[in-house]
Amino acid sequence: MCGIFGYTGTKKTAANRVLKGLKTLEYRGYDSWGVAVVSDQKTESRKADKEILVEKQVGKIGNSVLKSDILNLKSNTGIGHTRWATHGGVTDTNAHPHLSCDSSLAIVHNGIVENFQKLKKGLNKSHNFKSDTDTEVIVHLIEDEMKNKGFSEAVRSTFNKLDGLNAIAALSSSGEIVVAKNGSPIVLGVGSGEYFLSSDATAIIPHTKKVIFLEDGQFAILNKKGISVYSLASGKKVKTEVQILDWKAVESTTGKFPHFMIKEIFEQPKVLRNAIISLEKPAIDMAASIKEARGTFFIASGTAFHACLAGTYLFSKIAHHHVNTAVASEFNYLEDFLTKQSLIIALSQSGETIDVVEPLNRAAKKGAKIAAVVNSLGSTIYRMGSIKVLLGAGPEIAVASTKAYVAKVAFLMLVTYALIGRIEEAKKLLIKSAKEIERLLRKENISEIKKIAKTLAKSEHIYTIGRGVSYPTALESALKMKEVSYIHTEGLAGGELKHGAIALISKGTPCIVYAPDDETFESIISNATEIKSRGGLIIGVGPKNSESFDHWVPVKDVGEASLIPMVVPAQLLAYFLALGKGWDPDKPRNLAKSVTVK
Ligand code: GLU
Repeated sequence: MCGIFGYTGTKKTAANRVLKGLKTLEYRGYDSWGVAVVSDQKTESRKADKEILVEKQVGKIGNSVLKSDILNLKSNTGIGHTRWATHGGVTDTNAHPHLSCDSSLAIVHNGIVENFQKLKKGLNKSHNFKSDTDTEVIVHLIEDEMKNKGFSEAVRSTFNKLDGLNAIAALSSSGEIVVAKNGSPIVLGVGSGEYFLSSDATAIIPHTKKVIFLEDGQFAILNKKGISVYSLASGKKVKTEVQILDWKAVESTTGKFPHFMIKEIFEQPKVLRNAIISLEKPAIDMAASIKEARGTFFIASGTAFHACLAGTYLFSKIAHHHVNTAVASEFNYLEDFLTKQSLIIALSQSGETIDVVEPLNRAAKKGAKIAAVVNSLGSTIYRMGSIKVLLGAGPEIAVASTKAYVAKVAFLMLVTYALIGRIEEAKKLLIKSAKEIERLLRKENISEIKKIAKTLAKSEHIYTIGRGVSYPTALESALKMKEVSYIHTEGLAGGELKHGAIALISKGTPCIVYAPDDETFESIISNATEIKSRGGLIIGVGPKNSESFDHWVPVKDVGEASLIPMVVPAQLLAYFLALGKGWDPDKPRNLAKSVTVK
């Protein structure tokens, strides 16, 4: 996962610039962070002309006092990292950057070096490893290679030895940065007299709109002369295209809200209204591609997978169209059916999810057509798609996805109706959904959710059940609760309970029951009654009350789009449960917004 940022240029404030860049990238990982700069200054403690200085700490950027004077140091060049640990605990020592034995090189890394143990064994025993990370082996390998090669060649040959999907930025005390990638994203920024590298373009935009997207199998040298890009395989220079990104530098703030999560929940009606306008044409085009294809596959992870699953039900019930849906990380094992006529529709908020990127690469090799449905312009998945759809939900900062989920379901709803030439109906349903969400977000309704949150605060386990299109809602609700309240919540298809999970129901076990006014109503109420008979506490969500409900959260019927407002009470419940427990709902423990490791 992790965010990487680097700077080299005439301004002598490298540490400041790198830290600012990292702050923008913190959504990618926030267990620890670190910065390395090449000092231009001789001081009492630093006798050498050029020296690499490192500051690294556990925790979020800005939450702790710096141990060094790195911010005041005059420096033209630096790199930094926000970590999401894969190998080695969350400690100051394991935080990146990592230094070579002679401190003349520093490395930051995104990904997993799958063969790091073998590489470490092959190194001369004189290397002194300080951390438990897979990353550190890279800097020692470069140090060894530099005995008979220049810096960039040493980075190239080292990178070519690494197994896995990785991106690295290496800093030399000579003031040069070499960045290489295979899998994880890297964008280069071309300013005037200053050059940047970043895991995504948003951190570069405040400085320059001119960018180069580094491709897999390439490396770049950044120094005071500029940026040059080369092939990792041949070492030869490659031609690159400088793109001008017409993006605004938006500094996202929580505005009148205490957190991004609640702000983004409140933005959902606007997202739905925007979708009607901006996603109509893409939905019609997507429907045409689906009709042309022989076999359509949805692939996604986490919340986006739940949106896909909802899409599968909508396609089946409304458009009578079959679509295959797979968790992206499992698609590798299901792709044998792909042909040149297959259409893969990949959904991802960040557009960087490695579990989605990997199977897309494989599908592309088989000649399948790729449709990218993302919320982030310029992201890896966006660039991979021959059909590109931007969800337009606006930046989603909270790690737990809310408005991007609603945008994805809205898009799939539009596609469903476009398949049968009745897109106007979908638009009307989305307007109704927006109005119902606005009603749910009224003060008095929020107070009711807060009361339920208090009732559930001490629960260790919660169950959520739904049938038909409410089954994905049950899964998505359970995920929200897990992500931010840390309460174990399991989402189940109503009919599955009696096949096992009902054994876990005892007196007072809460169960959220999705009971829309559709063909699932009678059956899901029966399932709720089965739980209630075993002492379960039933929270019913839907337009009709039932004797089986201990609490009822009324959500008005909006026909086939009812799944959209139905998810909102659980988003709110998860948020208030997190607040009650004192957790930060925007940055839940162990998670990151953009999942770029396998
Ligand atoms: N595998 C490296 C580590 O655990 C990098 C993880 C990341 O991408 O943040 O330190």
